[in-house]
Parts: sequence; structure tokens; C-alpha cells
Amino acid sequence: MNKTSANSAPKASANQVARHDAAGSRSTIAKATPKVGFVSLGCPKALVDSERIITRLRAEGYAIASDYDGADVVVVNTCGFLDSAKQESLEAIGEAMNANGRVIVTGCFGVEEDRIRDAHPGVLAVTGPHQYERVMEAVHDAVPPLHDPFVDLVPPEGLRLTPRHYAYLKISEGCNNRCSFCIIPSLRGDLASRPANHVLAEAERLVTAGVKELLVISQDTSAYGVDIKYAESTWKGRALKARFYDLCAALGDLGAWVRLHYVYPYPHVDDAIGLMAEGKILPYLDIPFQHASPRVLKAMRRPAAQEKTAERIRRWRQMCPDLAIRSTFIVGFPGETDEDFEFLLAWLRESKINRAGCFKYEAVEGARANALPDAVPESVKEERWHRFMEAQREVSAELLEERVGEVIDVVVDTVDQGEIVGRSKWDAPEIDGSVLLESARDLHPGDRVRAKVLRADDYDLWAECVD
Ligand code: SF4
Repeated sequence: MNKTSANSAPKASANQVARHDAAGSRSTIAKATPKVGFVSLGCPKALVDSERIITRLRAEGYAIASDYDGADVVVVNTCGFLDSAKQESLEAIGEAMNANGRVIVTGCFGVEEDRIRDAHPGVLAVTGPHQYERVMEAVHDAVPPLHDPFVDLVPPEGLRLTPRHYAYLKISEGCNNRCSFCIIPSLRGDLASRPANHVLAEAERLVTAGVKELLVISQDTSAYGVDIKYAESTWKGRALKARFYDLCAALGDLGAWVRLHYVYPYPHVDDAIGLMAEGKILPYLDIPFQHASPRVLKAMRRPAAQEKTAERIRRWRQMCPDLAIRSTFIVGFPGETDEDFEFLLAWLRESKINRAGCFKYEAVEGARANALPDAVPESVKEERWHRFMEAQREVSAELLEERVGEVIDVVVDTVDQGEIVGRSKWDAPEIDGSVLLESARDLHPGDRVRAKVLRADDYDLWAECVD
């Protein structure tokens, strides 16, 4: 590996890890340290990228192999500055393929994925410059890192700020939409979906660690996989496409509650409603509609703005009568007329949105909406906000009243001095309502119980355990 810049290669021998066995006696277990070969081409900036990746590899317990033979996988950090540099990169990839056969390509030339794959169809993954996370994911895929609970400072599921029984699962970064009030794409870039098997592997680690509810998030969950052309990856020995429906179905097999956030009403979302009706994923959709008036949605440049959403929701509820929809809305967007606002209120009542947050429009520095004419006066925004919240309160109260007398599933979130606060499957943590529980037996956060709904107010339920 003549171009290897990593010179800190440990010996390619089994790593002896000393630890206590279950009986408390000391035992020594041999574990083979996964080894990564590294070829670094190009300028000092590329070299720094290589150093960063190698640092991450070493921090995760990988050894850097000093030759191709000793490596479980080889990373080639390429240069794409000149044609001659590209040619050299292709040759280096070829050399690694011949000598080792398991190759991950990264760096500046990585932006020409088609050319690389045409020349070397067998490469495991191709990523661009500075894509450290993608390189690490590709390495994890090829050679999973070792985890030793007695040595590692971080558990395999990572460190989390959420309670033990639920966790957020991010399936992509960035966004391909260009809503006029939002600057997220300029901050986080275009959509970058994670391979399906990486998402599933993380979800499985979380479930193994005791997570009972997976909250699927991204900027645009229903667009999952579009950027990577729904690429297939291998999960549990079978091919899994990076496609919204396929991912939902596979997550539904893990045995945890699966809750979808930030979904847009694209036609293919209909398929996921079937999974909800079957009970594979929760009958819950968080769709940030932001408005209902077609005129305002157009000015907002919202995705799926042309969809007839009231009709879609009616159809979804026919397929899955239990479906709860949560959403967020903006009132007082530039150009919003009284007529637009009345349309929104009528739509809200007709669509029976279970949970809704509402924001008064605020200009965000750098957003295109700032240039729109007909700003709505603050006093009008305020009045519309109160009217919206009142309409939503009425819808929520009416829907919750219908639950009284039903026996429902509740997950316990907190137990504090006799007060037990839980949630139904129609409520996400932090943002939706609660179920205040009465129970004759001791309950703990994360317990799932059956409970009979005794009463309801505008936003919460009171229920008694029947288990
Ligand atoms: S508001 Fe629009 S542009 Fe911004 S992240 Fe959401 S979908 Fe993307």
C-alpha cells in the first residue's frame, strides 16, 4: 500500500481483551480487531480529511492495516483536481481492488461516482469530500466495530438525551424542498438519506437497549431514499430498498412502536396507511401542513401543495379509522387574506386534525418569503392565531370525548409521587397530549398497559389500568 499515509498501524494480531465473566472471575477473551487499510491521495486538504477519518476509525477501535493483505477493508481517499489526478485515483482504486477486493472510495473524485463504478463495479461505497459520516457508515457496514461493555465508554446504541423507553431515529439529513419561509436547505444542504440497513441497524440497537418507541425523523421523511435512487442494501440477509414504505415495514418488524414525523402528503404515503391499519406501525402521522389555502401554499412553495389534502385525509381514515394526524400551521404569512384564513379554519374542522401547533409568521433572515408583498399586520396575526387555537381546541375536545369508555394502550412516561403520566399511540412525547393513569399496581416509565378512558378534557385523557 505504497500511498498509505497512515503510519500508526498496530500489529495485525488478535487483541487480548481482559474482562470479568458473569461469575466475577477474570477471563481473557480474544477478539480480532477490525483493520482498515488507508490510501490517501491528493492535496494537504485531502490529507487532513484522511487524518480525520483515521482518527475516527482509531477512536472506534479500528486498527490501521499496513498492507492490503492485513486489511478487512480499504478506504481510498481520491483526488479529482486534474484529469491526471483522476486517472491516478482510478489506478489506486484498481490496485486496492486487485489486492484486497473490499474498497470504499471517498474524496474529491468521489463526486464522479458513475465513472468510478464504471471502471470498478465492485467498490463497496463511493462518497464525496468531507463526508466523514458516510465513510464511517460504509466502514461499519463492511466491518462492524467491536463493542466491549467493560472497556468502551459509549454503549453500542450511542448516548441519548431522551428517556430510556423512546428514541429519535434520524433517517436522512437536509432537504430538497425550497419552502419560501425556510432556510434549512441552505444550512443543512440537500437531502442525504442514510442507507436502509444503517437505519435498521441503529433501530435494532436501540430496541435491544430497551427502547420501546422509535420516533422517525428527518426534514422530509416521505422523501426518504429519493437522493440515493432507493439504493438497495443488505439487511438480515435480504435486499432492502431505501424506500419510505419498505423502511416503515422493516422498522415495524422490530417489535417497538414506530411513529412517523415530518411526512408530506405525497401519493406514496397512502401505502404506509395500510401498515398502520395492520398495526405494524402506529396510526399516527405528523404532517407539517403549514396551511390549507392553495394560494398560500403556493406562495410558501410547499411540497405536495397541489394535493387535495382534505380528500386524502378522508380516504386515509377510511383505510385506518384509528389514524391520528398532528400538524403545524403558520398564520399571517405574507399575502394571507381573510378568505385564506377562513378556508384554513374550515379545512381544519373538516379534516379533524387531532393535534396542531400554530405559529404567527416571522421573517427569517435569508428566507425568500421576506421579499413577498402584503405583510400581515401583527394585530391581525394575533387575532388569527387565537381563532385558530380556539378552533383546534374544539376539534381536539370533540375527538377526545369520543374516546371515553374505550380501552386503549398506554405507555408510561413518568411516575412521580403517585402521579402516573402516560401517552396513547395517538400522542407523541413532548408535543401532544397525555393520559393521566390510575393504577393499583406499581408502574415504571416504559411500561405499556391497557387502560379504560374515564374522562377527557380539551387535550388530555384520564384512564384506569385494566391489566
Ligand atoms: S420547511 Fe420546507 S424547505 Fe424547510 S426543511 Fe421543511 S420541507 Fe425543507
